[in-house]
Amino acid sequence: MVSIDALTAGNSVRNYVGGEWTVSAREEGQTVTNPATDEELAFVPFSDEGEVDRAVRTARAAFEEWRSTPVEERIQPLFRFKQLLEDHQDELAEIMVREHGKTRAEAAGELRRGIENVEVACGIPSMMQAGSLPNAAPGIDETAVRQPLGVFVAVTPFNFPGMIPLWFLPYAVATGNAFVLKPSERDPMTSQRLFELLDEAGFPDGVLNLVNGSVDTVNALITHDDVTGVSFVGSTPVAEHVYETAATAGKRVQAQGGAKNHVVVSDSADLEFAAEKTLSSSCACAGERCLANDVVLVHDDVYESFADRLVEKADAMAVGYGLDDVDMGALITDDHEQHVRNYIQTGIEEGATLLRDGRDLTVEGYEDGNFLGPTVFGDVTDDMVISQEEIFGPVVALAPYESFDDAIDRLNASEYGNAASLFTERGAEARRFRHDAEAGNLAVNAGTAAPMAFFHFGGRKDSFFGDLHAQGEDAIRFYTDKTVYIERWPDA
Ligand code: NAD
Repeated sequence: MVSIDALTAGNSVRNYVGGEWTVSAREEGQTVTNPATDEELAFVPFSDEGEVDRAVRTARAAFEEWRSTPVEERIQPLFRFKQLLEDHQDELAEIMVREHGKTRAEAAGELRRGIENVEVACGIPSMMQAGSLPNAAPGIDETAVRQPLGVFVAVTPFNFPGMIPLWFLPYAVATGNAFVLKPSERDPMTSQRLFELLDEAGFPDGVLNLVNGSVDTVNALITHDDVTGVSFVGSTPVAEHVYETAATAGKRVQAQGGAKNHVVVSDSADLEFAAEKTLSSSCACAGERCLANDVVLVHDDVYESFADRLVEKADAMAVGYGLDDVDMGALITDDHEQHVRNYIQTGIEEGATLLRDGRDLTVEGYEDGNFLGPTVFGDVTDDMVISQEEIFGPVVALAPYESFDDAIDRLNASEYGNAASLFTERGAEARRFRHDAEAGNLAVNAGTAAPMAFFHFGGRKDSFFGDLHAQGEDAIRFYTDKTVYIERWPDA
């Protein structure tokens, strides 16, 4: 069992600035609690403006030397970090389970996705090249170069504490920037361990920094004069606030927001497969995923049959402590559990049919845990709150559709556009879906539209504010700017 004491100083979560671990002097903060056992794990002090200022200035000072460090040298600590992540994956997964509540398999899976981003960023020497053209004009050669820009900040949510920081950090530093992470205050222990491993990997002091905190910490970071850009992931209202505030302060911003994803199940689909993948998409991580497909539009002819299969599979899910052999873990906090319960009550009051009620669930040995079983509503209509708002819990809404056009129109009526899936055996439906569905991540015959690290990741509409998304080539473009050199040698 991982010792949480070893990850904290006197139980307080630490900051990492200029290669040193420090503890914020602030008394204001919040307790981190194991969602399954209710055990108090640590205390997160909310770093103040002065602490933010020190971290950003330290990063800015480190940037000058780091940007001039040959790219081949810059990626060596990333290779070491990748190996350290591999070596410590079980331990990191256990920390995630204890502070987040997800299952061990889910934690290992998210870490794998994080590691893939480190691997992609190790390819920066090839990916950062921007092109050149001899004889672009008479006697003139032109060359474009990508250059790092300064200090980048990432503010991340609670649901993937191991993966989401790694959507940003490897690309920001591989391209030659300095970086400050502000992880979620609800599960900050994973970042403690990630930064211990980054320290061991041997990045120069100040290139990578960690500042813990909450709202005020974020606002100080995203408006600091020495910060060049901000990567944000979280709920839509906060994403919008961060986008507007940071952009007004002159920063580059990419802000990923919340979601309400749809899945369309055609009458041609393999229903058994579609039900299995839909359930896993909507209930993995207890539904606390921006890619959860929790509104399911099912063709009239197969609606009953699909609903029966989905409920049967939901009945078979084992819910419990993520360190045990279970399929679904706990929700992040008591408050969040209540928030999800309120949505279930709303669904009942709105007139949806409760096909499976996950509320009456006690996990033996973990009676104080924040548990809810998979909950399935049928006959949901588009005007219901449960089909429009992000619930972020294991609640699935089923609705019948008559025509494929109708399904696409209803999917596109959502304010969000993070992801959508289609289950079909018809190529024509797949092509139409790919062309017309308005979401940033689309999947055919896959429950969760999660792109690999070498592709960009990001949504549309209220799920994203900005231009360039996370991961892959977009990340490189976000963390660099291009300069073009024009050369003429009259004697040549
Ligand atoms: P959140 O918006 O509450 O918090 C995210 C981060 O913002 C945290 O670090 C938090 O400290 C900070 N924050 C919170 N309120 C703030 C405020 N008023 N001002 C400034 N900073 C503030 O999100 P969460 O509950 O941690 O995460 C869940 C949300 O994240 C869901 O809506 C989910 O869909 C979304 N999410 C989106 C993606 C994506 O790729 N689009 C990925 C994961 C999660």
